[in-house]
Amino acid sequence: MFKKVRTRIAPSPTGMMHLGTARTAIYCWAVARHFGGEFLLRIEDTDQERSTPEATQVILDAMKWLNLNYDNAGHVTYQMNRLSRYKEVVDQLMEKGLAYKCYATKEELEQMREDQKARGEKPRYDGRWRPENCAGKPIPEGVTPVIRFRNPDDGTVTWNDGVYGPIAINNSELDDLVIMRGDGIPTYNFAVVVDDMDMEISHVIRGADHINNTPRQINLYKAIGGEIPTFAHLPLIHGEDGQKLSKRHGTVSVLAYEELGFLPEAIFNYLARLGWAHGDAEKFSREQLAEWFKLEDCSRSAAQFNMDKLRWLNHEY
Ligand code: GLU
Repeated sequence: MFKKVRTRIAPSPTGMMHLGTARTAIYCWAVARHFGGEFLLRIEDTDQERSTPEATQVILDAMKWLNLNYDNAGHVTYQMNRLSRYKEVVDQLMEKGLAYKCYATKEELEQMREDQKARGEKPRYDGRWRPENCAGKPIPEGVTPVIRFRNPDDGTVTWNDGVYGPIAINNSELDDLVIMRGDGIPTYNFAVVVDDMDMEISHVIRGADHINNTPRQINLYKAIGGEIPTFAHLPLIHGEDGQKLSKRHGTVSVLAYEELGFLPEAIFNYLARLGWAHGDAEKFSREQLAEWFKLEDCSRSAAQFNMDKLRWLNHEY
């Protein structure tokens, strides 16, 4: 049992802070405060090509502007500071026979997928470097191996999603995930599990675009031997045309609203209401949100962003 409720927001510092990330952060904050727990910030900076210190600063500034206090201020977790820890867990999985080196080249894997498609099969890593499948096979020269997780072949992964309710995925849908690249950088799914486990996160709350990752992550929890958190996925925010909210629909960067003269309280309140409701309440305090907020009350369909409504709310403050 988790000792306390602990949530986290884990943005990747690759650009601005999107309104959707801010809404997830607000819900994570509300769950933590509702249960008298903790809300933490983690910067997922393993994408070395796209991550920048400026984008990290934008996240910190946006959190500050929204007055979203996280409980690890001063010791925020950065994934790039944790490479040795990821390596340690990879080594443990290798020792247990739950991970293995894969020497397949990019070209070879492309060919494999083409062949599978030609046979009418769904492209899927075929386990060619699983130890039992490559006995006697020479190790190709000049190829730096990646590490793959040995996903269970059979059975079903199930979880009771905090928003969507029970979900079940067959392991036959999943393949052996790359958990560490040749350069020693972990992949997203693996790093997230090790971090959430080490940070003792009890509720993983994130966008519904991560639902497909959750069964893979649950398998990793089981293999590493950690307590599985509650997963809750939030439907995406759409623009008025029903498409995923993006720059085309107007301003999506949190800090741009500061420049436009919006009040952080209005943005906070508006985002909190986007996909969650408490009776007819339009305007409420943070304390009320913390008191009223329940994941079960979040909508299962996409929320619609409406600039006029946001402007109206801003005038109310
Ligand atoms: N870095 C991921 C993102 O920005 C975090 C996803 C998660 O919360 O697990 O989408």
